[in-house]
Amino acid sequence: MQDAVLLGLLMAAIAIGFGLGARFAYRRQPRPPTGRSPGLSREYFVGLNYLLNEQPDEAINTFIHALDVNSDTVDTHIALGKLFRARGEADKAVSIHQNLLARPALSTATNDTIQLELARDFMALGVHDRAQRLLRSLLENSADEALRLEVKRLLIDLLEREKEWQDALEVVQPLIKQQPAMRRPASHWLCELAQQEIEQSSRALARKHLKQALQLDERCVRATLMLAELEMDNGHYGKAIEQLSHIPQQDVAHVPTMLPALQRAYTRNDNLPGLENHLYTLLNQAPYTSVIVALGELVHQRDGVDNAIERTGAWLSDAPSLGGLDYLVDLYLESERLAGKTTPDTRLLLLKHHTGALLTGRSRHRCRRCGFSSDNLAWQCPSCRRWGTIKPITGVEGE
Ligand SMILES: [Zn+2]
Repeated sequence: MQDAVLLGLLMAAIAIGFGLGARFAYRRQPRPPTGRSPGLSREYFVGLNYLLNEQPDEAINTFIHALDVNSDTVDTHIALGKLFRARGEADKAVSIHQNLLARPALSTATNDTIQLELARDFMALGVHDRAQRLLRSLLENSADEALRLEVKRLLIDLLEREKEWQDALEVVQPLIKQQPAMRRPASHWLCELAQQEIEQSSRALARKHLKQALQLDERCVRATLMLAELEMDNGHYGKAIEQLSHIPQQDVAHVPTMLPALQRAYTRNDNLPGLENHLYTLLNQAPYTSVIVALGELVHQRDGVDNAIERTGAWLSDAPSLGGLDYLVDLYLESERLAGKTTPDTRLLLLKHHTGALLTGRSRHRCRRCGFSSDNLAWQCPSCRRWGTIKPITGVEGE
């Protein structure tokens, strides 16, 4: 990748050195009757030497110096700045773009374009306050709608990185209608705000923001889960269960995410039969290992280990999984212990060893966009930075 960028950069530099050098030299003086390539400047050959000596940085610098800034070449300079940024050398991009801005007589449109690039350079360098100042000033002064939209996108990205959720929401609000893809991130920013408010004991405000999050994105599992937790904190377990019941319709993949809250709500409400019924409903919608294990445990506690083995075995035959098998082996081992066996069956121990080894180190969650995997659930993927794309891993090797 780096090589490809470098190659592109060098090819551009060669083209610039050759094409423009030749053109300007031709303009300045008439072609002499004899001699070697009069159109190519001295810097071009110096740059070429560096290239041949495999000194690409020196080659590029020389080519840039050979190139005057004027209305014909300003786009080339902007493009070179972009290439430097893409190579991870945003400081060089800053100096190219600042050098351009210092030139008099740039058109307003060109000036705005360079400022936008400079803001991108500062973002790449992590100098967010300077980037933000540039973007805000562009937003105030530019009338170009396409550029304003790009500025808003960048500003939103920057405010999100700075965790300035309220400011990000204010910028995104007028865009939501034309940009439906912004609904999901905005709903998560509202959840972030609500989380801060819960920590500051402003529960009414948190509830308001969570409801707004659901208005923006009715499939926002996170908002529903947080509303259910708020209900539970107030002792309203029935309302919490009602909230949690929406989650399989919002996103069935998040059934394992909501399961602990569901178990807590029914247990605190002292309603284990209710939990069992609810789990059977979930088993039909989402026969995931965590649902099977939760049901198996209820049967285990009420009807004993042998009944749990029989039922769990039947559920797992329809939805086999490594985690389920591991749980089943645990049940068999306990059954043996209860039957009075002083030493467990070595075959069972061997099986347990294998399932344990296969499960160790497995990630429980994965981003559906970029494949990033982690043990804990993060609502924003640390790798691709998308919201709500990390979900529990289900299936044979899942959960
Ligand atoms: Zn991702």
